Amino acid sequence: MTEPVLIGITVGLPEAGIPLDVFNPQAPIAGCRLCGRIFQTKYHRQLFNLRRNNLPHGGLLQKVLDLNGEWRRKHTLRKHSVAEVASFAKTGFAFSPEAVNKLAPFGIVPLGNMHEDIVAGMLEADRAPDLDKLEY
Ligand SMILES: [Zn+2]
Repeated sequence: MTEPVLIGITVGLPEAGIPLDVFNPQAPIAGCRLCGRIFQTKYHRQLFNLRRNNLPHGGLLQKVLDLNGEWRRKHTLRKHSVAEVASFAKTGFAFSPEAVNKLAPFGIVPLGNMHEDIVAGMLEADRAPDLDKLEY
């Protein structure tokens, strides 16, 4: 049964020892909803900084979109089988419990109705992100 409550976790990554020039939770990312790998480059963070300051960013937005697309395609092919992806799609979950366990410390959480396994995955997650899950 869905309960009308929200469980939230606030993370302060700089306070957790993760500088904003290594990972900026406000900058664009790509991530895997199955395993929790996450992708953010210096270009992602540079785009965020330019847009925040209303500065022109030329072709940087398209570059970031292209990098995300390339990463998603390669990651899916290298790390997940077609059957695994199809099985996950049948769950209807936004994230797998494994992925949410890895992504929550980065400040990335699903919005909407959450299965109890998803809530448990977030609550059992480390308080600081595992930088081994970050690709750049
Ligand atoms: Zn994955």
